[in-house]
Amino acid sequence: MLSQADSGTPSTVDVVIVGAGFAGLYMLHRMRGLGLSAHILERAEDVGGTWYWNRYPGARCDIESVDYSYSFDEQLTREWRWTERYAAQPEILSYIGHAADRFDLRRDITFGTTVASAHWDDDTATWTLTCDTGAVVRTTYCVMATGCLSVAKQPDVPGLSEFTGRWFHTGRWPHEPVDFTGRRVAVVGTGSSGIQAIPQIAAAADFVHVLQRTPNYSMPAQNRPLSAAEFDAAIADFATRRRICEQSDAGVPHPPPTQSTFEVTPAERERRFEEGWQRGGINALSAAFTDFFTDEEANRLAQDFVRRKIHEIVADERTADLLCPHHHIGTKRTCVDTGYYATYNRDNVELIDVRTNPIEHVTTTGVQLTGRHIDADVIVFAIGFDAITGALADIDIRGVDGVELHDVWAHGPRTLLGLQTAGFPNLFMVTGPGSPSVLSNMLVSIEQHVDWITDCLAHLDAHGLERIEATEDAQDRWMDHVAALAADTLYPQATSWYLGANIPGKPRTFMPYVAGCGQYRRECEQVVADGYAGFLLGRPSPVAEGSRA
Ligand code: FAD
Ligand code: NAP
Repeated sequence: MLSQADSGTPSTVDVVIVGAGFAGLYMLHRMRGLGLSAHILERAEDVGGTWYWNRYPGARCDIESVDYSYSFDEQLTREWRWTERYAAQPEILSYIGHAADRFDLRRDITFGTTVASAHWDDDTATWTLTCDTGAVVRTTYCVMATGCLSVAKQPDVPGLSEFTGRWFHTGRWPHEPVDFTGRRVAVVGTGSSGIQAIPQIAAAADFVHVLQRTPNYSMPAQNRPLSAAEFDAAIADFATRRRICEQSDAGVPHPPPTQSTFEVTPAERERRFEEGWQRGGINALSAAFTDFFTDEEANRLAQDFVRRKIHEIVADERTADLLCPHHHIGTKRTCVDTGYYATYNRDNVELIDVRTNPIEHVTTTGVQLTGRHIDADVIVFAIGFDAITGALADIDIRGVDGVELHDVWAHGPRTLLGLQTAGFPNLFMVTGPGSPSVLSNMLVSIEQHVDWITDCLAHLDAHGLERIEATEDAQDRWMDHVAALAADTLYPQATSWYLGANIPGKPRTFMPYVAGCGQYRRECEQVVADGYAGFLLGRPSPVAEGSRA
């Protein structure tokens, strides 16, 4: 079914997809393959999602590009050549644009449109989505491909509106290049975004003040150009490489560790950490031993290694001390950098600890700290996102009997497999809370979720059904399982955005599934093998659970 509401936006469609990042685009492609009418609604003016919005200097992936790619089309894999081990944002955005063109996806996307609400009507078994443009779209299935890191945390420093210079958020970077030449820049935030941007800004600016509240662990990317021979070798048997990723914990093709930190001598431990550091990348140290995420002492030995590295690289002792993190390594997203720590050896960079000297307000000419004024022409906020649930919380989503998702999730998100929430039939999330999502190579997790949803809709169609909804019981069991898995690790001990701890007032629940992509995939496959156990399937009202439908 398909009818037009305005220029290009259908008023009725089988599947509405919200978001045109990696997830939404692949979802659209798969829906067409099923013969369903599908349409994407996207806030941005073009495709790309994360890579459309995050154009700050230094932005690049922290999973090797060969793996941070789609795998569903062999020809696409062969015709696109990544130029670097970790591609920069413009190249990743070009890749996404290329995929959109290659599969002729843009004709079914409405850009510049924010979905404000999604309401379920049980009588007609349809969702009605309302957009800020006034467009209204009715659909049988709604897929939220809205992203885990798509809602930039707004700076709430008093006085910002009085600032006479320019300010930017890394996650909402302008399209035209920002010229830092001759500028005094204050950067707030030292997570992955800040750590990537600071070296590049420092190379161009007159002076950079880094306002750090909490230091983070960062591994060297050891980025380099990817030769044709290396690329060809990596994709020679890409299908097998991807199957290894899919069965791994983090969605990457590296062999899992087999030994605990304490099974080897201190010298061998040091050798493995050093080997990882030289290899570089997000799992430089975490891939060395089995107990990295679970044993405090094992984790501390890895932390000590990084703190020693920081002191080796950074000449000024006091700055090196300030840069040394003290939380369990890996429990906040490990950063991956190019020249981050060495940047503090430059004469035009100063690190300021805003935990002991807090930001009070922004003035017309800079940032006022408790004990000092920082003159600045430009302020860069690299302060992160309302992660995982933020984009869904921004939409007024109402399910059966008008129940609001906002209320159901008041104490933290509740899902079955991170795919659906009970009471919200035919509404799917891609990489939702309760799935590996941000703990994994997102491309592996995105493709898995999109494939699962596609197979599910094909199953419904084959059985003359058109309704699917998670049961409360199965959802409760899944949430308990997700929480129990996390509790066996060090993850919940950190005040991270994985827990919602970076957003004032956000409920603190450890949101991702920690047991890895491979284990998660098996759980999802088992649900299907058991006839969609834990889901109610119906026509269009719920009639029975799982295979009994
Ligand atoms: P997004 O790319 O976030 O796309 C979601 C889209 O939905 C956005 O375009 C948004 O505008 C749109 N949207 C949201 N709400 C609405 C609404 N109400 N109405 C209309 N449109 C809406 N992951 C990795 O695995 N490896 C990496 O190296 C990596 N690097 C990253 C670097 C940065 C700077 C950031 C911020 C994240 C990174 N990530 C990385 C995570 C990244 O978000 C995912 O890898 C991936 O790009 C997510 O794709 P997506 O399609 O699920 O979501
Ligand atoms: P982030 O990890 O949440 O880091 C935000 C930083 O801003 C933290 O240092 C935080 O300090 C600081 N901050 C927040 N509010 C502040 C305030 N009011 N005053 C002072 N400091 C404040 O955000 P991010 O760096 O944008 O990264 C988010 C995620 O996106 C990453 O973890 C990663 O998953 C992804 N990402 C990946 C890459 C990549 O390498 N490919 C690059 C960028 C982002 P506190 O810790 O004290 O709160």
